Amino acid sequence: MTRLIGIYGASGFGREVMSIAREQYSGERTEFVFIDDAGGESTSNGHAVVNWSRFLSRPAQDRCVAIAIADSRIREVLTDRCVEAGVPIRSIQAGNVWLGDAISHGEGAILQPFVSLTANVRIGRSFHANIYSYVAHDCVIGDYVTFAPRVMCNGNVRIEDRAYIGTGAILRQGTPDKPLVIGAGATVGMGAVVTKDVPPGVTVIGNPARIMEKR
Ligand code: UDP
Repeated sequence: MTRLIGIYGASGFGREVMSIAREQYSGERTEFVFIDDAGGESTSNGHAVVNWSRFLSRPAQDRCVAIAIADSRIREVLTDRCVEAGVPIRSIQAGNVWLGDAISHGEGAILQPFVSLTANVRIGRSFHANIYSYVAHDCVIGDYVTFAPRVMCNGNVRIEDRAYIGTGAILRQGTPDKPLVIGAGATVGMGAVVTKDVPPGVTVIGNPARIMEKR
C-alpha cells in the first residue's frame, strides 16, 4: 500500500531533482525510484533505478512521474508515454522557490532551488527552471521550455515552445506593446545577452547575442 513516485532520468539532472521530490512529497508510504531506460545501474543514491515497464509493474497503490530530463523533445515523448499509460505527471518545486502573484504553470514543471517567478507569469507544460533562474513580470512561456542555471528572464518576454536558454543568459526586458520574443525551438547560448527578438529554430550566442551561422 504505497505511493510510488518515479523521477524519469537517472542522469545528472534527475539526481538533482530526486532530493527535492523527496522533500516535497515525503510521507511514510511513499517510495521514490528513478526511471531510466538505459539499463545501467540498479540503484543510484540509494534509490532503485528501473525501466519504464518495471516502473509500471512495481507494486503500488498509486504512481506518478516527474520528468527530469533537460532535452525538450525527450520530455515530450515521455510525457505522451505517461499520458498513454494513464500515469499522472507531477511538478517538482523546491521549498525556497518564490512564486509571486498571478503565476500559472502547466503540469510537469520542475522549479529548482532559488528560482523566482515574480508576478503575472503564464507558463505552459513541462517547464524546467534550473537553480537560480528567474522569470520577471508579464512573461509568457510556452510548452517544454528549458532554462539552464541562472537564466535571467526580465519582464515582458515571450518564449515560445521548446526553446532552450543556456546558463547565465540574460534576456532583455520587453514592453507590453512589444515583448522580446524567443522563437519556438531556439537555443540561447550560455552567457548570451539577448537584446532583440530571436527567430524560431536558430542558435544565438554572445553579447549582444547574434545568430550562430552553421558551418
Ligand atoms: N532516458 C530515458 N529514456 C528515454 C530518454 C532518456 O530513460 O527515452 C534517460 C537516459 O538514459 C539518461 C537520462 O534520461 O540517463 C538523460 O540524461 P542526460 O545526461 O542526457 O540529460 P540531463 O540529465 O542533463 O537532463
